Amino acid sequence: MRALFISDLHLSEERPGANERFFQFLEEDAAGAQALYVLGDLFEYWIGDDDLEAPFNGVVVGFFRRLSAAGTRLYFMQGNRDFLLGDAFASATGATLLADPSIVDGTLLMHGDTLCTDDLDYQAWRRTARSADWQREFLAKPVVLRRETVQGLREKSKAVIQAKTAEIMDVNDAAVAAAFRHHGVTRLVHGHTHRPGVHRIMVDGRRCERWVLPDWYGRGGYLEIADRKPRLVRW
Ligand code: MN
Repeated sequence: MRALFISDLHLSEERPGANERFFQFLEEDAAGAQALYVLGDLFEYWIGDDDLEAPFNGVVVGFFRRLSAAGTRLYFMQGNRDFLLGDAFASATGATLLADPSIVDGTLLMHGDTLCTDDLDYQAWRRTARSADWQREFLAKPVVLRRETVQGLREKSKAVIQAKTAEIMDVNDAAVAAAFRHHGVTRLVHGHTHRPGVHRIMVDGRRCERWVLPDWYGRGGYLEIADRKPRLVRW
């Protein structure tokens, strides 16, 4: 049994190097795996599944489809950039959408943004953007307008992120402990923070491990769990 986990690829037409490496990952590294879990922020942004017709999105879908058709089970979790990724995308790629959080084979899977509880502005925005009202209103706008809105939000968020301290943008230790406790697991895999690595902590006398997936900005990688043994592969 070999399962791979990736997140934070932030795919967009603007970063062809990352895209090429990603297609190579799907064709080579992921080939023959039983399952591939994409834990959010696959795309730099996703304005709704009706944008599947955009040529770049079609190319990405095609690569995923080939992998799932070859027998690798494919799972997508939404991230904070692509939280509008939906059923149409999943069915076009032959994938299943996963709720955040989900427990798979005793491992807790999350995108990771819900653990960053010190970032109060972000958590407020998250509540807005995940509300049914906001999504209904946004998805009712024409594709062109939605793309403009999202690009505007990205510019604004770049400026905001630069003004925040590194601690605020990382996970909150108490939130991590609470997640282990609440779900009764000893292994957590998430992305989002762009701080790849493994953290071993004790929670209520239990040895717990938190695996943080690498982002694909000028680097990349994935977590492999083969025969229950996890291993971070990075480049
Ligand atoms: Mn993220």
